[in-house]
Amino acid sequence: IEKYDKGMEKTRKSFSEKMNELFAGFREVDEDFFDDLEETLISADVGFDMTLALSDVLRDEVKMKNVRTGEQVKNVIIEKMVEIYEKGESGLSTAIKENPDGPTVILFVGVNGVGKTTTIGKYAHKLKNEGKKVLLAAGDTFRAGAIEQLEVWAERVGVDVVTSNSGDPAAVVFDALKKSKEENYDYLLVDTAGRLQNKVNLMKELEKVNRIIAREIPGGATETLLVLDATTGQNALIQAKQFKETTNVTGLILTKLDGTAKGGVILAIRQEMDIPVKFVGLGEGMDDLQVFDPEQYIYGLVR
Ligand code: GDP
Repeated sequence: IEKYDKGMEKTRKSFSEKMNELFAGFREVDEDFFDDLEETLISADVGFDMTLALSDVLRDEVKMKNVRTGEQVKNVIIEKMVEIYEKGESGLSTAIKENPDGPTVILFVGVNGVGKTTTIGKYAHKLKNEGKKVLLAAGDTFRAGAIEQLEVWAERVGVDVVTSNSGDPAAVVFDALKKSKEENYDYLLVDTAGRLQNKVNLMKELEKVNRIIAREIPGGATETLLVLDATTGQNALIQAKQFKETTNVTGLILTKLDGTAKGGVILAIRQEMDIPVKFVGLGEGMDDLQVFDPEQYIYGLVR
């Protein structure tokens, strides 16, 4: 454990910076190297299980293939990380499903502060650039300022937004669904509450919103995307598990990957559950949302 404490000094640096440091001091593939590698992976929130699995596989590879140079080790690390991430399903889909018969309804869920509202703004901008007609629904009527924040984003990127003063998310979602069908919107992006009096109420509220959507759109929301904050490391993993228990989460969005050392949590989440990461957030601006490409991501971490 002590060696992992030492690693915490470096947590403010990015994962790739740490990997670079590891290889800058590279002499040979010995026990010290594996210690440093494990420390780097743990402090980047790759998770204990994933770190140990990776470390074991690497030890075997190194022996079998007679790996010697830092460059060779990097290549093996990339290859194995990608393999573990893909779990045998190469080219895991990051595409967002579309509803061919009406508006594609995307529900954004996640706890307060993870970047839900910002992500909706960025995604609306992306869709608008692709020529889509986009409507936002300000369904987070619980967090102070959430509605205004979504309105600001709608104006900034030039899309429409439905709000309500009633304080009832169900009413907002109902109105937005009606408008999106009547006026032929391609996409309806629904913001939801991230915090209520307690978890049970939050999940009940989400269920209610889901029922209203299912009444208007056969099969319900086209996608339910869980937004997670990468800087919270293992907490993001815990949230993912909790939401998955009660909500039909179809994809993940990991925000705040810019400059965090915790980016490894993507690998930990992937190891624990079969929900693909669809987008990553790399800043607060409207162009800072990117489609997640696992291979490119892992390559970027280790290069
Ligand atoms: P919500 O409560 O989940 O709706 O969270 P917000 O959208 O209000 O975001 C919380 C804070 O995180 C805001 O200050 C955002 O600007 C910031 N934020 C969101 N996404 C990112 C990101 O990808 N990178 C960075 N650096 N900041 C982000």
